[in-house]
Amino acid sequence: MKAWRFFFFFALLLTPLLGLPQSASADTGFAIEDVGFQYKFADKLQIGASIQAVEKLQTLTLLIEAEQQELRQFQITPGEQIDASIDLSTNSFVPFSRIYFWFKAELSDGTIVTSPSYWFDYSDNRFEWKNDSSKLFHIYWVNGDASYGQEVQQVARSGLERATQLLPVVPNIPIEVYVYPDEATLQSVMNLAAQSWINGHTYLEANRVLVAETNSLDDTTDIERTIPHELMHLLQFQITGQNYAKAPVWLLEGLATQSELYANADRQRLLEEALQKGTLQPLADLCVAMPQEANQVSLSYAQSASVVSYLQNQYGNQVLLAMLQNAANGLECEANISAVLGVSAQQLDSTWKNSLVESTGSTNTADLGRILWIAIPTLLVLAGVMILLRRRKHSRMHQDENGNAA
Ligand SMILES: [Zn+2]
Repeated sequence: MKAWRFFFFFALLLTPLLGLPQSASADTGFAIEDVGFQYKFADKLQIGASIQAVEKLQTLTLLIEAEQQELRQFQITPGEQIDASIDLSTNSFVPFSRIYFWFKAELSDGTIVTSPSYWFDYSDNRFEWKNDSSKLFHIYWVNGDASYGQEVQQVARSGLERATQLLPVVPNIPIEVYVYPDEATLQSVMNLAAQSWINGHTYLEANRVLVAETNSLDDTTDIERTIPHELMHLLQFQITGQNYAKAPVWLLEGLATQSELYANADRQRLLEEALQKGTLQPLADLCVAMPQEANQVSLSYAQSASVVSYLQNQYGNQVLLAMLQNAANGLECEANISAVLGVSAQQLDSTWKNSLVESTGSTNTADLGRILWIAIPTLLVLAGVMILLRRRKHSRMHQDENGNAA
């Protein structure tokens, strides 16, 4: 209990008591005291308390509520000392969110007693986070000094500027940006179960972006892509709200890819290659989700960005905003395309492909196939006609020869 006593003390010092619920029953001497907690991120949360007049206790419930997540209830075995352990790998909470917890006791005489509410910020305590705050961004990082934090601030500012040029939305500020030391640790957070409202590396409702550093601290190229990309998702969420998932995925990802400060050169190559091989995905397939196959993912992003860029050139940025507003009103992808552009998804797909053929100067194999389908029979007919003409000419010459002979 020694360790617990330390945590109880620590918690009581640091966690303000919220609300004024009843924590003791004056008549019975029943009380929930010395409430404390400790946690290891993504592993285990332990909450302890001591109970006075435990014989009066019938049932005890621990209630936990995290920012933008549903209330969770845990039945606790009554005892003089409570030591509740919650598995955070299966009962995961949104990282860095504020978590509130309290106890509810039912006494044998039917009285309900509620403890005060306690809170803590569920920070990823596997790391020590440094921070740099501005009006727009609260930046947190692990490796590097203060100048690195300022670099990230600069990248985020440029990214937001670019994103708001594409999508004129007043951002919800401040935005929290956490830069993880590497991709593996970030992935361990992303893999946690029961994540709510997460898109890529963004907790949309929490207005929070998680990204990973590249190998070298001097090389900010990667965060120059990921941070602006994720900021765009936050802007989109401000328009669509809870209907975010109704928006065409190619529109969400295409716009986010367009916001990146540096284009990924690989994407253009993938696009041209797929165009030539005839392996571009039908746009309708990219309405609801990006493909799961690793080799298809990069191509899908390239394709989405290319379609968005086509729409910008043909119709202007306002159609992108209009489509997100339609999604907010619940319109599904195909209906959305025809409502805003007056064409079907299939027509958009083919006019976009044609523009791609023109801009890259290449013909895809599917088109080549169609050309051959028309060209080969035509050539065969032409060849037949020529043979026929030659034969007629030949036989006329024979007739002439015969005539002459006659
Ligand atoms: Zn994305």
